Amino acid sequence: MARSAFPVADPPRIGSWIDNEQVADGDRWGPVFNPAVGEQVAQVGLAGEDQVRRAVGAAARALPAWADTPVLKRARVIFRLKELVEQHVAELAEIVTREHGKVLSDARGSVQRGLEVLEFAAGIPQLLKGEYSDQVGTGVDSYSLRQPLGVCAGITPFNFPAMVPMWMFPMAVACGNTFVLKPSEKVPSCSLRLAELAAEAGLPPGVLNVVNGDRQAVDALLGDPRVAGVSFVGSTPVARHIYETASRNGKRVQALGGAKNHMVVLPDADMDQAADALVGAAYGSAGERCMAVSVAVPVAEAAEPLRAALLDRIARIRVRAGTDPDADMGPLITAEHLARVRGYIDQGVREGADLVVDGRSLEMPAGFFLGPSLFDHATAGMRIYREEIFGPVLTIVRAASFEQALALVNGHEFGNGAAVFTRDGNAARAFARGVQAGMVGVNVPIPVPLAFHSFGGWKNSLFGDMHIYGPEGVRFYTRLKTVTARWPESVAGADFSMPTMK
Ligand code: NAD
Repeated sequence: MARSAFPVADPPRIGSWIDNEQVADGDRWGPVFNPAVGEQVAQVGLAGEDQVRRAVGAAARALPAWADTPVLKRARVIFRLKELVEQHVAELAEIVTREHGKVLSDARGSVQRGLEVLEFAAGIPQLLKGEYSDQVGTGVDSYSLRQPLGVCAGITPFNFPAMVPMWMFPMAVACGNTFVLKPSEKVPSCSLRLAELAAEAGLPPGVLNVVNGDRQAVDALLGDPRVAGVSFVGSTPVARHIYETASRNGKRVQALGGAKNHMVVLPDADMDQAADALVGAAYGSAGERCMAVSVAVPVAEAAEPLRAALLDRIARIRVRAGTDPDADMGPLITAEHLARVRGYIDQGVREGADLVVDGRSLEMPAGFFLGPSLFDHATAGMRIYREEIFGPVLTIVRAASFEQALALVNGHEFGNGAAVFTRDGNAARAFARGVQAGMVGVNVPIPVPLAFHSFGGWKNSLFGDMHIYGPEGVRFYTRLKTVTARWPESVAGADFSMPTMK
């Protein structure tokens, strides 16, 4: 299939994707920027209620046939899509870098992590196998099956334009659902390209639709009774709103929110390893990762050597356009977000934290750039500690003991990821068991579970019961049915009491 060719406009227009066709209209239009140059490069059609209704209608029409398609055939489409995505990793990564700004190697890595979900989803015949119990009563057998939920919707954030959509729709459609994806309006192109590739792989019209848009499109999805399930990834206030609204409207919902991930460094840790891990996890993708480490918690005498090792490394971070092969860190997503993150640095200074490295002093000719920043001697009451900054700002909060460090992590409202760096197996085990977070790293700074596990946080980092992708993804996108069967030979007249095993 040829690359998208929306009607020529200046800046070029990006639409939606319904029934395997480009939809080039929009009710309203919004700007799409290249953050590395700070200029608008496209305009995106923002779907209103009508367009969302069309997309949900297409998904609803496609549902019966797709849900009935033999599971092996569905798996084969996923296999072909996996191959196509593999062939287009470079192109998808370029789109990610152009609209998001992260460096190309990081963008490629994120496409790869999405691909791994496709690989997992291709195993759907095995994953959907039910359970069977023979002779649960005389002449009675029982078996369970997992059937698709129906039309599902996915609402995704700006920071992983390829990976997060791939956390959702491959699992959903492999399970026999049809899908309407609503990507972030800041990064609209990647999802469209993935949908084109899915059509090329053989996904029938209506099975995967993409509506670009903002809050209006989301509200239309949440209000549509034909949508049975909603997966959301984004900030905590919106996640809470999605969870409450979708639940009230009778939908199954998983809503993953924001984070403030801590990395505890014990005095026995290898300080070079810990500092290497911290700079990558704090400043990679300019801190715009829900699994970024934004708080370092050195315990007791770990503080000074860790600070020194961090300073040495931060001085060498190369902040450049993401397309520069030497770049370690690119720009932030928009001018507004840059101003917000700078505002947090101002706030930290006002609150009395020690600003050791000031990223505000970075000078670049254009683009939404901010240098890496480091605060030391921050305390648990400060806003720079309590709130998610989502930028290249690392905050050190010193702890006197392991117990104090663990209590600090557990006192935070978020519980997405948490890591400990140590050589002490007992301390690592106590941390892993005692920490209130959904994903834990032991000498691993960004413990994003592989595709055959599941991803999700605790506390205000996740609303809903089920984590995303992996085995939990199969559970989320299916409903359990248990059949109890008996054939006439073993039927023995009416029974008015509660059936028990005979
Ligand atoms: P966001 O919450 O602003 O937007 C996410 C999605 O919701 C977008 O598609 C957006 O169009 C839509 N949206 C925004 N405001 C809305 C509203 N009021 N009502 C309905 N829909 C609305 O998030 P973002 O800025 O795109 O992404 C960054 C956030 O996402 C950070 O908080 C980050 O931690 C979080 N995130 C979490 C995870 C995770 O797995 N927990 C992963 C990636 C990002």
